[in-house]
Amino acid sequence: MNKPEHFRPPSVDTVLRSPGGELAIVRHGRNEATDAVRHVIERLRSGGAPAAASVDHVSRLALDWLEERSRPSQCPVINLTGTVLHTNLGRALLAEEAIEAVVAAMRAPTNLEYGIETGSRGERDAHVRGLVRELTGAEDAILVNNNASAVLLVLNTLARDREAIVSRGELIEIGGAFRMPDIMARAGATLREVGTTNRTHLKDYAEAIGPETGLIMKVHTSNYVVQGFTAEVEPAELAKLAHQHDLPFVDDLGSGTLIDLSRWGLRKEKTVQDALKGGADLVTFSGDKLLGGPQAGIVAGRKDLIAKLAKNPLKRALRLDKLRLAALEATLRLYRDPDRLAQRLPTLRLFTRTAGDLRALAERLQPKVAAAIGTGWTVEAIDCASQIGSGALPLETLPSAGLALRPLGKAAGSTVEKLAAAFRAVPVPVIGRIAQGTLIFDLRCLEDEALFAAQLDALKPEQSDALA
Ligand SMILES: *Cc1c(COP(=O)(O)O)cnc(C)c1O
Repeated sequence: MNKPEHFRPPSVDTVLRSPGGELAIVRHGRNEATDAVRHVIERLRSGGAPAAASVDHVSRLALDWLEERSRPSQCPVINLTGTVLHTNLGRALLAEEAIEAVVAAMRAPTNLEYGIETGSRGERDAHVRGLVRELTGAEDAILVNNNASAVLLVLNTLARDREAIVSRGELIEIGGAFRMPDIMARAGATLREVGTTNRTHLKDYAEAIGPETGLIMKVHTSNYVVQGFTAEVEPAELAKLAHQHDLPFVDDLGSGTLIDLSRWGLRKEKTVQDALKGGADLVTFSGDKLLGGPQAGIVAGRKDLIAKLAKNPLKRALRLDKLRLAALEATLRLYRDPDRLAQRLPTLRLFTRTAGDLRALAERLQPKVAAAIGTGWTVEAIDCASQIGSGALPLETLPSAGLALRPLGKAAGSTVEKLAAAFRAVPVPVIGRIAQGTLIFDLRCLEDEALFAAQLDALKPEQSDALA
């Protein structure tokens, strides 16, 4: 038997001086190119490569490795999950006006904390406070990192070393890490639970009030509903009770909308204005849920209480940067013209697409998808139901349309998983959802048809044929 020939790689230098090596240097810099060539040679050596690997072969592998390595970790995806405000996919898309404002704020110094007229120090929240007041009727407002921060700041400021009274029916957990009882503990407040899971009465709150009480809080049960034999206390009654005892009443709206969504045929969700009119002293809500802006937490309400929040050192840790303040300001400005809001605010634009339009889109795309995934599958245009997402209007669904991709014949359960993976492996990953052995693409959030079609071209038919 012949002894296997020893692997003789080209030298790193030879590869770097070849046309492929030079290209790698131009594109990625000398350090990266050198590392890549070393890496490839090492891999060929340990992988039992043929005795001689050509310079071209090594440089091509090095270029592939460099391309792969320089791909951004966070990248655009196509959201066909049917959930519009998908927390894992980054929630609200920004309006063009907000995007432009962010870009402008990135490129140049701004008057973030500077009064242009006075030439003296200003306040960052001032750029947005006026708009929040104007749009909600609140006396004042303060901006923080997200709504979890808003709740933390409120509790830490008004209920630290004191009790916060909350109904047992509202001790929510939202997506993994946000559990109201945990936030309370971290804020230094003692949770005083009242009532039962399904029923809480005014007297439950009243009996819990004592010298230790810091505030009464109502929490929007964002991602579930308690149905059946239930009772909850109207916010107005809670506000009255709180005020009789000189306590603040805080309403955590979660999603928080500034406009009556029934105008667009959606279910009416209590607005921030409603909550304030209902007697809430402070209202907390998110920037990137129904509002359709950047991640942010907004506290709107009584001026004296907002002043207390502003003085809390935690505010400094939770503050917004100039980019998000710019995006939020531009987003809120759009609310001054509700007539055009559904065209300009992507979140609302997506909510209001009609099932008829989406059905037509599904029928246009059906043959293209069928051709792209090859034989072994049926592709059918279907009616489906989208969700709002992010714990806003948990039971509300929007009539929608999409595509159902099913393996023909008796296929293993993993077949559909593999197809879903193939769709995730294209340059702009396509994310659908799997239900009952079917890959479903809800088209509500697909606005760029050409982009989707381009991904189909990248989905190798021979690959997906092999999948079926
Ligand atoms: C979503 C939500 C939060 C957390 O808001 P983030 O902006 O995600 O931090 C808090 N409370 C309620 C009721 C919510 O729905």
